[in-house]
Amino acid sequence: MLVLEADHVLRDAASPVIAGGAVAVRDGLIAACGTAAEIRAAHPRAETVSLGHACLMPGLVNAHQHGRGLSQIQLGFPDDSLEPWIARRRGRGVPDVYALTRLAALQMIENGVTATLHANYSYGSGDYEAELRASICAYDDAGLRATICVGYADRGSLVYPPADEAAFLATLPAELRALIGAGRPGYLSLAGTIGLMARLRADYAGHPRLSFAYGPAGPQWVSDEAWRALAADAKEHGLGLHFHLLESPAQAACARSLYPEGVLARLERLGVFETCASAAHFVHASARDIADAARLGLRIVVNPGSNLRLGNGAPPVAALIDAGLRFGLGTDNCALDDNEDYLSELRLGRLLGRSATVPADDQLRTSIAVATEWGAEAAFLADTGRIRDGFKADLVAINLAAPEGAYLDPQMPMLEAMLARASGHDIIMTMVGGRILHRHGASTAAATESIRAAARLTAAETRLDAGTRSLASELSEALRRHYVAAAIVQTCRVPSGSQ
Ligand SMILES: [Zn+2]
Repeated sequence: MLVLEADHVLRDAASPVIAGGAVAVRDGLIAACGTAAEIRAAHPRAETVSLGHACLMPGLVNAHQHGRGLSQIQLGFPDDSLEPWIARRRGRGVPDVYALTRLAALQMIENGVTATLHANYSYGSGDYEAELRASICAYDDAGLRATICVGYADRGSLVYPPADEAAFLATLPAELRALIGAGRPGYLSLAGTIGLMARLRADYAGHPRLSFAYGPAGPQWVSDEAWRALAADAKEHGLGLHFHLLESPAQAACARSLYPEGVLARLERLGVFETCASAAHFVHASARDIADAARLGLRIVVNPGSNLRLGNGAPPVAALIDAGLRFGLGTDNCALDDNEDYLSELRLGRLLGRSATVPADDQLRTSIAVATEWGAEAAFLADTGRIRDGFKADLVAINLAAPEGAYLDPQMPMLEAMLARASGHDIIMTMVGGRILHRHGASTAAATESIRAAARLTAAETRLDAGTRSLASELSEALRRHYVAAAIVQTCRVPSGSQ
């Protein structure tokens, strides 16, 4: 039994803050929560950790990211519109996936994240299973709770809608066509993907922290046949489905042409909502898309920093709240400050959700739900995201002294001040399944430096050579011209939810 005490304990988004609170943890689960006096009286011999002037609350959930421990800025790729930005990375060597994911996990833990959804991603090594297993090992070694998506895509890797691809290719010089042709397959075949899922389910059955979901990349990248097959297997085995949705203007235009009945109506027909489903981005959702998401129980994950940085505009957070949707937050490894600071990203999401009709305290509580229990739902995780007896002991402690600064009015509610001013530097403890993974001040510098060094090494080893970089950049500009010509790139757009 371990007892954590803090000046403030927040059980969940809906409950009042307990002043002078404590949480008792046993066998990785929450055993009790109350005032420190009550918990001490009930468990007088328990080991106690005193967190002092801090808020102890459910851990933060990063519900959409890809295990990219080094940002694209760090790797030499400046922010750009989404499609040219993706193309600029073509030709890069295959990195040590374990090293990058291990660093991503470390950064999440340092920023108070206790659980994450690892969305589909492939480095195109030609051995997708080995890549994915390397990421899985990295989350396991880090001790983070993770839902790992088995990715899939079968079209549109160059241009979408896929019907435009042949015409686009024909405009390219031979060297660029060669660069594209040299790409190795990112994902397995449909049957191979379902087979891999079966092996992973068997290999990790009963794992205390790791679970799996399907990650069909997104409507423009996945055929109807594949949606149907993955949804059927997900339903049969009780797995979630997580995908990208309406991230960019080009994706929205593609969805309008491929799915005239509405993209979610099509996915419904293909069986996607017969299991749990969540989707990232949703920036260019129309009013009908938002209504469909609410009707179908689709969980959304907003990624505001990534969306703004990649020229897609802001996610329609206020419209999601108005529609009664429960949504999570993800950094997409492309947070506003390029440093994976979850609390800052949450602050940005909250600002985008400002609404004249919703009382300020409700907005505050919504923000906490987004970061914890709603995020857990979007990541298909049960029994976490709240401090409740029998739930997993996934907890974070946020120091309040630094956010309070030189002075804080005694009337200012603690949660308001914390969400307005705290950042990743203020995380003093991160616990997953009853195990403390991060404790501010504890000397773990040597261990973390070896993780950073491994990421640094693989990044340096897989740098783009000058020739490939210049070809990739040519391809990127050709794509920009293509989408501009198709009149679907918009540089900055705030969705009204009524298009
Ligand atoms: Zn993403």
